[in-house]
Amino acid sequence: MKSLKVLRNPNPKANEAVEEVPAESFTVVQLVDSLNQAIDDNLLERNKPEFKKVKGFHPSYTNQCARYWYYMFDGVSVTPDFRAQTLRIFDNGHAVHDRLYGYFRDMGILIAEEIPVTYSSPPIEGTADGIINWHGEKLIELKSISSEGFHYRKLYNKPKDEHYRQAQIYMECLNLDGGFVIYECKNNQEILPIYIEKDQAFIDKLFKKYRDIYGNYTSGSIPVRPYKRTSKHCSDCNVATLCWGDSD
Ligand code: SF4
Repeated sequence: MKSLKVLRNPNPKANEAVEEVPAESFTVVQLVDSLNQAIDDNLLERNKPEFKKVKGFHPSYTNQCARYWYYMFDGVSVTPDFRAQTLRIFDNGHAVHDRLYGYFRDMGILIAEEIPVTYSSPPIEGTADGIINWHGEKLIELKSISSEGFHYRKLYNKPKDEHYRQAQIYMECLNLDGGFVIYECKNNQEILPIYIEKDQAFIDKLFKKYRDIYGNYTSGSIPVRPYKRTSKHCSDCNVATLCWGDSD
């Protein structure tokens, strides 16, 4: 009878003593559950405390709270608590990027990928997904999305607000007049490129807001909390414990 290598410690990397335990020692359900759990535990090791301190606004950050940015500029220790499934979703997103870059490379239209982006006033730092040559140089922002989200985007031919904002910032920083937010449906790999032009009025308003937020930070005045503790903004925020334990 074959035997399986089974880790007694649920954390496989931390366990150097791998034992040979015969498969028949377990029920099928136990074997399946233990594998499932071991995969999750391995991923959850990524949730380590880390010190975050930014030098500029990150276009990919979805949290637009002025107080959040104050903490980010000041530097905070955060411990992510992503679920294992969420981490797999992130990894899947990265894999989608690599595949789409491959298509554009094969087509001979990929000019640049993973472009470091900086801007001085307001300070901005980030990484744009890329530039393709499609009737001139165009930004690309690549997103994988659920089928519900995909159908909504297709119906209205409009990117999500956070993706629109991100693309506008990168177009300004990279001096591009237009770009595509390209959605790929997670369920069936259907693709939806949405073309947007640079919207200077939108960018000017956003950059003024960022300058004001940055001015607050450099003057040392911490912004008041714009939301309630029970709001979705705060419950999703990774500095909520610090923020709500801090003085007003
Ligand atoms: S917890 Fe709420 S108020 Fe505090 S930084 Fe986060 S989003 Fe802003």
